[in-house]
Amino acid sequence: MTAPPELADRYAAVTAGIADACARAGRSPDELTLVVVTKFHPAQLVRDLVDLGVRHVGENRHQDAAPKAAELEGLPLTWHFVGQLQSNKAKAVARYADVIHSVDRASLITSLAGVERALDVFLEINLTDDPGRGGVAPDRVEELAEAVLATERLRLRGVMGVAPLDEDARGAFARLRAIGDRVRTIAPEATDLSAGMSGDYAEAIAEGATHLRIGTAITGKRPAPQ
Ligand SMILES: *Cc1c(COP(=O)(O)O)cnc(C)c1O
Repeated sequence: MTAPPELADRYAAVTAGIADACARAGRSPDELTLVVVTKFHPAQLVRDLVDLGVRHVGENRHQDAAPKAAELEGLPLTWHFVGQLQSNKAKAVARYADVIHSVDRASLITSLAGVERALDVFLEINLTDDPGRGGVAPDRVEELAEAVLATERLRLRGVMGVAPLDEDARGAFARLRAIGDRVRTIAPEATDLSAGMSGDYAEAIAEGATHLRIGTAITGKRPAPQ
């Protein structure tokens, strides 16, 4: 089966947009990992994406992601978990996810201790002024980085952030990048930056993103969550 033409068109448009933004930033698209966020979409959409050459997919809800990952076992995919994660589901998510972008508190790191296989993690940073939003406050990031470094099998890749709606995305990603620089003073290997979604990936590329998390611009409108 080949992928539906609208999906192929949207994927091509985003890949071209990424190439454009890279050219403007003096970067190579080879430096970037495109994670296509497939949350709430059926497994067939993921199969179609694999046919188009996608190798990284992102999910944000365990109850939705787990059966999909099980159904698609054997496809050449790296699974990224990008959503808020409850500590009591952490170990289960780590069974199919290779990368978790949303580590934002010490209790979650404790729950991930003793995972069965190596797991890459990003520290999610709260870039808003609202402490109720996901992500660790910027002034707590060093202690969280230390906790990851002290945990066997967890590999710290860098920081992740979502640009606040009420702020220019470029400025928000510049702050995220500076926080990533601070983390690197204690974890030099944590060089990655997970930033940029459908509406702001060009700004993220300009600020040094290494992992883009793009959903609707490629998948089209999301079905309502079940
Ligand atoms: C849904 C989601 C995305 C993708 O958002 P789009 O606007 O559809 O590109 C990226 N990151 C996170 C954390 C998400 O939950």
